[in-house]
Parts: sequence; C-alpha cells; structure tokens
Amino acid sequence: TQQIEKHSFDVVVIGAGGAGLRAAIEARLAGRRVAIISKSLFGKAHTVMAEGGAAAAMGNVNSNDNWMVHFRDTMRGGKFLNNFRMAELHAKEAADRIWELETYGALFDRTKDGKISQRNFGGHEYPRLAHVGDRTGLELIRTLQQKIVSLQQEDKAEFGDYDARIRVFAECTITELIVNDGRIAGAFGYYRESGDFVLFEAPAIVLATGGVGKSYKVTSNSWEYTGDGHALALRAGATLINMEFLQFHPTGMVWPPSVKGILVTESVRGDGGVLKNSEGKRFMFDYVPDVFRAQYAETEEEADRWYTDPDNNRRPPELLPRDEVARAINAEIKAGRGSPAGGVYLDIASRRPAEFIHKRLPSMHHQFKELADVDITKEPMEIGPTCHYVMGGIEVDPDTGAAAGTVEGLFAAGECSGGMHGSNRLGGNSLSDLLVFGKRAGEYAASYAESLGTAKPRVTADSIDAAVATALAPLERESGENPYDVWHDLQTVMQDLVGIIRRKHELEEAQKKLVDLRGRVASVKATGGRKYNPGWHLALDLRNMLVVSECTAKAALEREESRGGHTREDFPKMDPAWRRINLVCSLDGDEVNLTHQPVPRMRDDLLTLFERPEMGKYLTDDELSDFDAAKA
Ligand code: FAD
Repeated sequence: TQQIEKHSFDVVVIGAGGAGLRAAIEARLAGRRVAIISKSLFGKAHTVMAEGGAAAAMGNVNSNDNWMVHFRDTMRGGKFLNNFRMAELHAKEAADRIWELETYGALFDRTKDGKISQRNFGGHEYPRLAHVGDRTGLELIRTLQQKIVSLQQEDKAEFGDYDARIRVFAECTITELIVNDGRIAGAFGYYRESGDFVLFEAPAIVLATGGVGKSYKVTSNSWEYTGDGHALALRAGATLINMEFLQFHPTGMVWPPSVKGILVTESVRGDGGVLKNSEGKRFMFDYVPDVFRAQYAETEEEADRWYTDPDNNRRPPELLPRDEVARAINAEIKAGRGSPAGGVYLDIASRRPAEFIHKRLPSMHHQFKELADVDITKEPMEIGPTCHYVMGGIEVDPDTGAAAGTVEGLFAAGECSGGMHGSNRLGGNSLSDLLVFGKRAGEYAASYAESLGTAKPRVTADSIDAAVATALAPLERESGENPYDVWHDLQTVMQDLVGIIRRKHELEEAQKKLVDLRGRVASVKATGGRKYNPGWHLALDLRNMLVVSECTAKAALEREESRGGHTREDFPKMDPAWRRINLVCSLDGDEVNLTHQPVPRMRDDLLTLFERPEMGKYLTDDELSDFDAAKA
C-alpha cells in the first residue's frame, strides 16, 4: 500500500500563474480555504515571463480609448470567432483589475503626468498596455504573491496559522482529477522532488495550468507547458473548444540553436523596430490583408510618423495582429529572402538611440547579449515564428468560468481556458484575461463550494488506487521505449504536420501518426526511482500532450478555412459560414470526439458598435440582414 499525504480544502487552484493566483485571492477573500498548487517553483510561471504588458482601456495615453474600442479590437484580432461575452467582460473589467493591482502594490511605469503609462501593441488601436519596462509579468506575479502573503499574515493574526485559509504547494504536479458521480471530489498528484503522492479533497477546482507549447519543437514555452489542465479537464468530462487555433508568435530567437524559440517581445516593434528581409527590404507593406488595409500605413514615411502623431497617420504594418506577421515572415523565408540562421531581421538599432533601447527594452538587450552575443543597440536581431500561445482551451461559461460538459465543480481561467481570444489573441490581452477571469473563476468556485455545505462528493478508494496505478505504470513496466524518444517524435509530428501552414494530406498523416503514438505513449518505460526523476515526469506529461495534440490535429483537419492562428494552404480564405461554428472536443475512452456547435450570436448593443463595411467581410448573408435590422 502507498503512503499518501492527504489534505482537504474548499477550493483547489491548480496553477500559480496570474490566473491561478488571482483566483486563489478571490476564493480566500470569499472566506474559503484554498490550496494553490504549482508544478514548478512558486513564482515561476509563464506569467512571470510576460514582457510587453497588460492591455486595459484606461485611456491614460490617448483619452479616446474606452472599453468599446478595446472590445472591437479584440473581436477583430480574433476574427470574430471570440466568445463575445468574454470579450465584453474583459474589455469592461480589465482596467479595474489593473487599478486593483496598484492597491496590492504594483508599480507600473508612469506617464509624465503621473498616470499608469500605456504602450502600443499589435492590433490595439490606441496605446493600451500597462507595463513595467519589458518585465511586466514579473511585477504582476510579485504583486499577486505579495497580496497572498498579506492575506496569510491576516490569517496568522486571526487563527494563529499562516496557512489557515490559503496554502501553497510548490513543485507538486497534479496527474488526475477525481470525479464522483459527475462532480469534482478532489485532485491527485506527486511531489517533484520526493516522488511522494498527495491527495487533495475538494469540491471545487480551478484549472489555471497555462499552455500546451511543449508539444512543438520550436516554442517560447517552458517545460511545464504540456497541456495538463486541458487533458485533466477532458478526462474529467469537460470539453475543449477550438483547439486548432495556436498562436505562432512572429518573433522568436532563431540562433544559436540551443535557444531557438525563446521569445523576442512584440514591444520591440511597438517601440519602433521594423522587419527586414535579406535584401534589406521592409517587407510588411506587401502583406497587409484587405480586411486591415484601411487601418495601416501604405508608406514607410506615414508609418514612421505614426509613432509621434498617431491621430493623423495610420499604424505601421509591423503592428498587424500576430498571425498576419508570422505568415508574412514565413513567406519571406520560404521565398529565399531569409537570414543565414533561417529567420528574418528585426531592426531597432538603426531606428532608436541606444539609450532609448536600454531604457525600454532592458531584458531584450540582456537576452541577446548573453545568449547570442548580439548587441541590439548596434545590430539587427535574427528572428522567426515560434509556437507561443493556445487560443483554444477548456470550454467555460463566460461569466463564471465553470467548465462545460458533464462535470460539476470544475472551473478554468487563463490560457488553459478557451473562447475569449477567438482565432487569434492580441498581445497584452492575456495578462488582462488572467486577472479578469481568474477573479471570476475564484469567486464562482468559492460560491459553488459554499453552496454544497457539508454535502461534498467523496473521494473513493477505487479512484485513488486507479490514480496511483496510472502514475506508477511507467516505472513498473518491465520494458518500454524511452519517453524522450517518444516525445521527440510527437514534437516532430506537430511541428512538421500541424504547424503554421497546414494541408489536408499532412493533417491526415498527422492523425495516423498520433494514433500510432497512443500505443507508444501508453507503454513508455521510465528508468530509476521516484525521487526527482524527470524521465518519469515526462512519461506522465506525455499522455497529456498526446490527447491535446490529437484535439488540435483533428480540429485543424475539420476546419476548412484559414482564420487567425489556423492557416490551411488548401483553404486560404476566411469563410463566413465557418465563423458560425465552434469545434468542440470531448473524450470517449481513448477517442477524441469532435462536434460542431453554433457560435453564440452577438447581442445587438455590441453588434452595432461595428460598421456595415467591416461586418460585410465577416458575416454570412443572413447574419448581415440581422445586422442591418439591429442598426436600423
Ligand atoms: P501560467 O502563468 O502559464 O501558469 C501556469 C501554472 O500552472 C504554473 O504555475 C504551472 O507550474 C502550473 N501547472 C501546469 N500544469 C500543472 C499540473 N499538472 N499540476 C500543477 N500545476 C501545474 N501575455 C501578455 O498579455 N503580455 C505579454 O507581454 C506576454 N508576454 C509573454 C512572454 C513569454 C515569454 C510567454 C511564454 C508568454 C507571454 N504572454 C504574454 C502570454 C502570457 O504570459 C501567458 O498566456 C499567461 O501568463 C498564462 O497565464 P496563466 O495564469 O494562464 O498560466
């Protein structure tokens, strides 16, 4: 029999990035007992790596900005596939969440008159990203952690115990959600260092586990991002929505090979950096799609004037949404106009004084100097697309974060949830998403837990035994493949066949290969024991990466159009009929089921924030009649 450490909480938050921490704070403020669990060290999450800033229509730098402009930009960025209610809540509440962070002690950069400064970013009509140099995520995490410490101090004063109502479990990976009769009963996992098992009994769980990037070879994501929350949700009976939409960030490092994929912040372009090919041409002017033509400069002169006079000039095409820029870079490289290391050039050195670059982009300067021996105040950077963010995710109720599907008591927020960003996320909209929907998920998870009173679902002995058996299987097998080999093959399938440009026959091949990989993943062998054993951890992560990859490949084959982060070479256009369809994945045994669900119709008061010529590009004819009626 296994020794299993046991804990009991009202709400368990899995993930200690911005979404998880904000959810935990809210659940604790509602008086619930909360656990925060994180696979890596506390404080090390993607949120801490966020550079550019958090988007919120505070109107500090341009007073024309307001939630309606932000809502429009977000819907445009997502090519109108966003869950409109999430985009609405996000646009309306982001500013309050940023101001609230100040009350927790955040110190944002300032405008000359002392307001929170806001910077330009792709797809945002006005300067909108609240920032701290290019280290915004660090400040966000620091502040949320500080708030947690202050709440723990209050609890110490009241109960004599810092952990009385909020406790952190770091380096602890959840491998299984425990469900009893369709309701969440708890979560099971192991400590990274000791390999010991731990069980959390809890009626409400908030998933805030972030992204899936480690299924790809070239990614800005770090080791923890193996789609755990997505897979846990699926196995518990929840659904995933629109998993075909992945964001390939246009600017990742391409050299040296050991750092390929590491992010180069969009702020470089927001602050004046431009993209050039091997012929020295500023090529983005050739890639402005029709839907965006009216908002983007046609000449370099106009684009350059925009930085100082945005009211009278149109924005540079380097600041198109990320999907457009990534495809353009891909096309330049394919046409033989790439840089020696297989990217293109991002140049800020010839455009801004060294002093400005040091002040605005200190981390980028440090990153290139340390990792590539390139001084970005003197030389251009070599960059190329990198798998960065997943727009698809756990299907949730927009107001409460409750997961859709057959399970009760499960909530999700942040990158692991889906819907908010449609087919493409605008930069800066993730940090604000974490705060807005983290708070909401925490609030509703707390009230759900409270509503159950003492009638909490029980964790059965059978479910614990099953979780233990699954976790130990890779160690106990007599023989089997090395998990690293299987992972390499999975990444190759996703990178080569389900990457930035997709084709029917390649997606079909990917599906076959992923089905073959199922057997291999199920029989990997991890050598060694349970103490700090990365091979074993990978073996367990692999089954998550696999099922999430299957959802992505399946949905990518199904969606016969190109939209946002999903580009089909064989269906290169956006198709208004597909805009009305969400692709939803559920799990039936080992099989991923894919269904079509109608996209909820936008409320008239939101619909009429747009104009006819623009909507003509996105809506079907009968939707346009509705639009005309709403406008009339
Ligand atoms: P994360 O911050 O990713 O945290 C996930 C947490 O879940 C971690 O604590 C992890 O350990 C834990 N976890 C995962 N699996 C398990 C498990 N099985 N058991 C227990 N714990 C688990 N967005 C912006 O808006 N602006 C930016 O400027 C920006 N810059 C970025 C720069 C980089 C380099 C990267 C990678 C992303 C950037 N993004 C940016 C995106 C943004 O940072 C992320 O989308 C966001 O931080 C995700 O937050 P989250 O709270 O959902 O999850």
